[in-house]
Amino acid sequence: MRLSRYFMPILKENPKEAEIVSHRLMLRAGMIRQQSQGIYSWLPLGKRVLDKVNAIIRDEQNRAGAIELSMPTLQSAELWHESGRYDAYGKEMLRIKDRQDRPMLYGPTNEEMVTDIFRSSVKSYKDLPLNLYHIQLKFRDEIRPRFGTMRSREFMMKDAYSFDLTREAAEHSYNKMFAAYLRTFDRLGLRAIPMRADTGPIGGKLSHEFIILADTGESEVFCHKDFVDFDIPGEHTDFDSVEGLQAIFDKWTSLYAATSEMHDEAAFNAVPEGDRLSARGIEVGHIFYFGTKYSEPMGAKVQGPDGKEHFVHMGSYGIGPTRLVPAIIEASHDDNGIIWPASVAPFDVVVINMKAGDQACDDTCELIYAALSKAGKDVLYDDTDDRAGTKFATADLIGVPVQIIAGPRAVANGEVEVKDRKTGARETMTIEAAINRFVA
Ligand code: ATP
Ligand code: MG
Repeated sequence: MRLSRYFMPILKENPKEAEIVSHRLMLRAGMIRQQSQGIYSWLPLGKRVLDKVNAIIRDEQNRAGAIELSMPTLQSAELWHESGRYDAYGKEMLRIKDRQDRPMLYGPTNEEMVTDIFRSSVKSYKDLPLNLYHIQLKFRDEIRPRFGTMRSREFMMKDAYSFDLTREAAEHSYNKMFAAYLRTFDRLGLRAIPMRADTGPIGGKLSHEFIILADTGESEVFCHKDFVDFDIPGEHTDFDSVEGLQAIFDKWTSLYAATSEMHDEAAFNAVPEGDRLSARGIEVGHIFYFGTKYSEPMGAKVQGPDGKEHFVHMGSYGIGPTRLVPAIIEASHDDNGIIWPASVAPFDVVVINMKAGDQACDDTCELIYAALSKAGKDVLYDDTDDRAGTKFATADLIGVPVQIIAGPRAVANGEVEVKDRKTGARETMTIEAAINRFVA
């Protein structure tokens, strides 16, 4: 991508409305634009990051055996009357009428709709287990939308829904998502800690919020500090192994971890003082087993091996991609801007032409740009005629992991400078070596 032809509306000044660093940096880097309160456009740079986050989420959902579909944002109120939630949901639900005066709503979540899809075609236990997910916009008319896309009214969610014949089978489905979430957040460069969450009338232990520690987080959390260094399940984790996944779950729930809603002061005080971590956190995911809460009122049942009909046991599993992007920034930035983990960076590398119009600089940059693009890298080429200082500031602000800097003096020697955004380390090398670093 040539910056001269791109759309990346950088802000020079710090936007006054932004209270936290991620919101400030997302606005300054031209990633998002607020359209009305708590409703955002994702501008091209932001969209690139969001797409990369979603690709990782999707990859790990698929690895764990979940199957992607796509459900609409607008739903008919009818289904919600069946579950009893139409009246229970309250003011967060945006209720609308169509031209025939039929009550509709903008989906805040999809349990009802996915249960309807399930009951319309699954009739036998032989079709289980089943886990269906989508990555779709949701709307919740939050009383206090704030911090940019961290808490917005329209936001994106990856929501998965599992269906099983028995509670035991549903626990395995739960553990699959538990392990998939650990892997997902790790690949996003984040350390998320699963914390016990309220299970309400369902009871039991199967509800966890995945929390990232951050000073700007809205939740108050308490946990054992060893979680920070726990091993993440590997790429070859066998998601069909009941024992294997149970072992992962047991390990990751063996130490104290709770948000303030579930906090048990006495249990926390039993943790040796030096191991206690009390901090603030951002909820980036939430998984929940809720048994037959929806399958019973909505009549979602299958024939079991005993020939009888059974209401299916369900769970739901949410991740907030549009909250994750700012959460990643909260965890990874410095005074100059964002520092993207390579896995979600909008571009792999930025080529900075320090003197656009200078033949040698132009030729060198074009050569590098072409070679890296051909190698499948996402390259941003700053070919604008801005001052070098402005270009450096922009490159640092948007946080691309590697900068290749071509200035007249180095280029005259057949060299360029390669800068690591995170460490700031600069290295002078031949043009060929700079290319090979990515291509090899
Ligand atoms: P919160 O407690 O932060 O309001 P929630 O518990 O209501 O969130 P869930 O219903 O568990 O949210 O939704 C699953 C995930 O969707 C959350 O873990 C979060 O990552 C994301 N999410 C929920 N609400 C919002 C929002 N208003 N803006 C952005 N992301 C959100
Ligand atoms: Mg939640």
